[in-house]
Amino acid sequence: MSREAKRLFFALRPDQEVCEQLVQLQHDCRQPGARVHRAENLHMTLAFLGMVDEGRIETICSMASRIKESGFRLRLEHTGYWRGPKALWCGPSHTPQHLASLVKQLWQGLEGCGFEQEQREYRPHVTLMRKAAAVKPQQLKSQIIWPVSHFELMWSHHKDGALHYETLDRWMLVGSE
Ligand code: ATP
Ligand code: MG
Repeated sequence: MSREAKRLFFALRPDQEVCEQLVQLQHDCRQPGARVHRAENLHMTLAFLGMVDEGRIETICSMASRIKESGFRLRLEHTGYWRGPKALWCGPSHTPQHLASLVKQLWQGLEGCGFEQEQREYRPHVTLMRKAAAVKPQQLKSQIIWPVSHFELMWSHHKDGALHYETLDRWMLVGSE
């Protein structure tokens, strides 16, 4: 790997309306000491690539541009908690078929680019905060309906001591112009 490598992942990013609802949910779930994700960092990871040589980004983008999947509605219905990263998140109760298909196509394409999919099952979620104390899963009082129209390739890096996710490219889903 050359020195010019970037930490990359594919993700869904909420529009302003959904983002505001997620921020409200962060507020409703707030805990002393938890590290709340900044609004502009809220996302749902589709596929995590890790450190990638910059020279491979063009091939990855061209693979992504060939993906054909319909836009869909994502219904965020409940919160959950992961003990390892002490992450409090929200997610759908079922993975919508179009989301599963998008992730599957991404990994098929990524495998063609030499990436290896990790074995653990894909669990769609939006992390709301880290370093959170354990909480029981809860149904949201008001579900968040997220109209998903596109997906993005993100670059994760630190700038001035803060974590930034920067969009490198984005692609529309079918029927979502
Ligand atoms: P930090 O690691 O600084 O606490 P972060 O986890 O949000 O912040 P990254 O580690 O760059 O930032 O991860 C970017 C996204 O990819 C996050 O949604 C993260 O949950 C996800 N991710 C990171 N590592 C993996 C992995 N090994 N497998 C699957 N998803 C991952
Ligand atoms: Mg991480």
